[in-house]
Amino acid sequence: MECTNPNPKIIIAVDGYSSCGKSTFAKAIAARLGYIFIDTGAMYRAVTLYALDRGAIRSGVVDEDAVEALLDEITIDFRFNPVRGASDIYVNGDLAENRIRTIEVSNCVSAVSAIAEVRRRLVAMQQSMGRSRGIVMDGRDIGTTVFPDAEIKLFMTADPKVRAQRRYDELRAKGDEVSFDEILSNVLARDHADTTRAVSPLRKADDAVVLDNSTMTVDEQMEWFLGLFDQRTAAGRR
Ligand code: C5P
Repeated sequence: MECTNPNPKIIIAVDGYSSCGKSTFAKAIAARLGYIFIDTGAMYRAVTLYALDRGAIRSGVVDEDAVEALLDEITIDFRFNPVRGASDIYVNGDLAENRIRTIEVSNCVSAVSAIAEVRRRLVAMQQSMGRSRGIVMDGRDIGTTVFPDAEIKLFMTADPKVRAQRRYDELRAKGDEVSFDEILSNVLARDHADTTRAVSPLRKADDAVVLDNSTMTVDEQMEWFLGLFDQRTAAGRR
């Protein structure tokens, strides 16, 4: 009798613009399929937070050499938090999940993520995390650089104002005193920095499928995705 695996272990790359719900959606896909979920933006944020704490970024100016010099002393790991039902990020053993999401980190993270050596180290870590497949990874360069052979590549986008509103609601709910305009300009500045940087700029992989979720709920996106997953994995089994 032929034995079929209901959830074949493939790699799912989710790339796209800032604050368009990539992590929420990627996390939901991973939970649905019983896959591992990795938020690579959290890893770039973790390096940025550490650089801020250690004085390698002062008054918003990133000292690239100083950031590179810190790379050997940073360890990043994800640990499952049963209360949240998701993984928290730890930097050198300290819980950093909330501190990496502040506007201060958001304002500096694109400059840090443009440093070639930072990318080289984090990409190598991400590739080793995906060795056993069965993973959903979200970021900016997953389908183009980290896993160019991923079986499914999504490229997510949404109207910048919709994205800024989502991030604004999230931060206000946590009690952060931010203004909508401040968030919108951060979203636009990161779009610009992420698409124009020299190393691994954000771009849609040629074989990625575009998902514009400006007016879609997570449930609608999931239904759409599961259709794609069935189609791709059935084609793979043929
Ligand atoms: O996904 P998130 O918005 O938290 O990512 C924060 C920043 O990290 C992005 O604006 C981008 O500059 C950088 N990033 C990246 N490559 C990735 C993931 C994130 O350059 N794979």
